[in-house]
Amino acid sequence: MTALTTLDELKQQITLLASVEESEAPFISCYLNLEDDANSWRETLNSRALVLRRILKGDDLNDLEYALDKIETWLSSNLHPETKGVAIFVRGIFGGAFMLPMQFAAPLPNWIAIYPTPNIYHLVELKDNYNRYIVLLAMPDYARILEVNLGAATTAAWFNNAALDQHISSERVASEWSRSHYQINQSHRGDKFLHEKITVLKRLMSVGGHSHLILAGDPEISQQIRRALPKELAEKLVDVIPAAGRDKQADVIMATLSSFIKYEEQESQTIAERLIEELRNHNLAVVGTTNTLDALRWGEVDTLVMASNYQHDPGWSCTHCQAIGSEVPETAICPQCGHCGVRPVDIRETLLRLAGQHECPVEIVEQSDALMSLGGVGCLLRTRLDTQTNRQILTTAVAGL
Ligand SMILES: [Zn+2]
Repeated sequence: MTALTTLDELKQQITLLASVEESEAPFISCYLNLEDDANSWRETLNSRALVLRRILKGDDLNDLEYALDKIETWLSSNLHPETKGVAIFVRGIFGGAFMLPMQFAAPLPNWIAIYPTPNIYHLVELKDNYNRYIVLLAMPDYARILEVNLGAATTAAWFNNAALDQHISSERVASEWSRSHYQINQSHRGDKFLHEKITVLKRLMSVGGHSHLILAGDPEISQQIRRALPKELAEKLVDVIPAAGRDKQADVIMATLSSFIKYEEQESQTIAERLIEELRNHNLAVVGTTNTLDALRWGEVDTLVMASNYQHDPGWSCTHCQAIGSEVPETAICPQCGHCGVRPVDIRETLLRLAGQHECPVEIVEQSDALMSLGGVGCLLRTRLDTQTNRQILTTAVAGL
């Protein structure tokens, strides 16, 4: 059994996967959903293997068998009991062996792709939706501070109102953030105890660089904590979730997750609105596939903003000079270098690869008619552009919004 992947690890892995150079051999991106029905992912794996075995030949087929064997071996002995989503990226020895398995307490779809490079969309979406946040779960007889990281909860501090035998100061808690469990036992002393919790919470959030907080538990205690939150923590408060003593912690965490996902979606909408505002007034944004592709290649992107239903016809890239274009390729001759190196590429993956290589944040927006009317993709820029193209898009598409 291996550990669940954390947000920091996922960020590094996305950069790594986005930087994998293509080879002649197929690269397999295998996403599996382990939420409820064990058969659904098994069926996906088996039926996709059947189809791919019919399509691939020679070294490609040998590479596929190698990859499938690696996937089956990993699945048979490494699954964590909390796992709801698995992502395995693998390439066989003929293409330059590569194997990167990850598992998450957050779900992924059942989806297996064969492409020259890793398909990272579902990882990017998971990172954006689940991210991480802190929960202060407060009950009459105890309180816990939990970190929820890509859907997985770990206890960061534990306060027991009844016991008196041990007390760990908040300073020590803050300085030992890397250890996962702390127990703070203290008699209930009204406001002092409340402020002790808030002091520990403040330090943990600061040390861990956390920007989102959810209060959960006894409604009255949660409201007391909410009123006592200092400004810097109140600004990070996402929601207050009521829970009773009989509720299981896992159910409370699920309730915080669904609240966080809604909040995150609202944040995505705000970023999509900001994109349109920047486009309208300040020219610190571009929209549309070609402009976005250009901006990502210039390396001037602050945030890539993509609708979850963004689609585009295949574009092209040149294996000789690495030029990329968003038009459907009509010939194998590269318009940039003249060599016979043009091959079709998935444009959504191309944009995400460029963003991943530059460690550029990506915001996936669930529902935005305004963004879709502008081509479904765009980016906020670090530096101002004064492109005529952008002005034209703006005039024709934004006028009616
Ligand atoms: Zn070329």
